[in-house]
Amino acid sequence: MATMSSKGIEIGTETKSGKNKKLFIIVFVLLALLGAGVFVYQNFFGGNIKIVLRAEMLSIIEGEEMPQLVVNATSKSERSRRITPFEEITVGDILDQLNNNEGYEVFCEPSELLEGEYPIEIAAGHTLKQELRGKLIIEHGILTVKNRYGEWAGERFKRHDGSHVQEDFVVWQGDKYYFDAQGDKVVGELKLSYTVYTFDEEGKVISEIQLIDPTKPMVALTYDDGPAGRTGELLDILEENKAHATFFLIGQNINDENAHLLKRMIDIGSEIGNHSWSHPDLSTLEEEMIKQQVEDTNGRVLAVTGVSAPMIMRLPYGAVNSKVREVVSMPLIFWNIDTLDWKYRDEQTIVDNVMNVVKDGDIILMHDIHDETIEAAKILIPTLQEAGYQLVTVSELADLRGVTLESGVGYLSFPEEE
Ligand SMILES: [Zn+2]
Repeated sequence: MATMSSKGIEIGTETKSGKNKKLFIIVFVLLALLGAGVFVYQNFFGGNIKIVLRAEMLSIIEGEEMPQLVVNATSKSERSRRITPFEEITVGDILDQLNNNEGYEVFCEPSELLEGEYPIEIAAGHTLKQELRGKLIIEHGILTVKNRYGEWAGERFKRHDGSHVQEDFVVWQGDKYYFDAQGDKVVGELKLSYTVYTFDEEGKVISEIQLIDPTKPMVALTYDDGPAGRTGELLDILEENKAHATFFLIGQNINDENAHLLKRMIDIGSEIGNHSWSHPDLSTLEEEMIKQQVEDTNGRVLAVTGVSAPMIMRLPYGAVNSKVREVVSMPLIFWNIDTLDWKYRDEQTIVDNVMNVVKDGDIILMHDIHDETIEAAKILIPTLQEAGYQLVTVSELADLRGVTLESGVGYLSFPEEE
């Protein structure tokens, strides 16, 4: 008891510094245990390890192929660290496995590669989830599909190469726009080749009316030797029926009184061709004279219309030889239906001579200098249209049938007959 009591006294008389020392030891031991715990947790139980599985952001342009999806696995932890205390798997093993595309799947499945953003999703497999519980961070990606044409630059549209879209359409988020020669967005109405487009105030196409359907039959009515007294009446018939025709004019017949008819031909969509200056048989003329016959008429038409000189030639009497071919240097338009209107001078015969044989692609020869030909047009034009024929100019017919007219070459119909 005495010992104990003396001990007690001893304890009771312990110095202050001795007490602190003991406390210090206890704290030290606790810290050591904590440190050891953390060490064991981190090194054997994989605490604090984070493995990041990230899908790479991708960007393509509409029309390009679906790119390869790329996923990268990274970690800030040492490769040698063990993920679990019971197995030898290290951070490095897991990274290698993931970077070898094992243990997960990656998806990006837009139905069509149209402009927009599409998620790239990573789905970790069951085993991987178990293995890396709490340690796996998945970062999904985005596939950006850029507009195939480019991007807006105010009211204009910039291509991917930096140039502005000019005289062309652009489809942006499903809407169609058109930019003119200056690169400005078009609003209102515009006729381009065989289609009339209507744009709303934002420039979106709201209607497209096809004036000529290239898949349906068409023929070219041609009228030679004018302009003449009743050519204006023929233009009325054409306009009323929304029909086009080609007028092969004789240069010397164009005068101040009928000059307005030429402008009107162009306004209603008809075409003016060259039929020489004074209707001679060109095959009998010297080169210089042939040239003059052609050029004088082209010059006269250009001066009167202010638009353009004829692009096509019909030879008087259809008379041709190699010299004519070479000197005229324009496409030579013949015909494959001759109505012989000048011979019969009868409207019903003219109509019958066409309707009995007409087929797609024909070029029909008539002369608007005869009264019966004008009368026949009143019947012939609606009758052809009712039979399903679109009435187009020679140049339209060639163009719609994919023929590029060549200088000095003769054409009878489109497609050409054997
Ligand atoms: Zn003629």
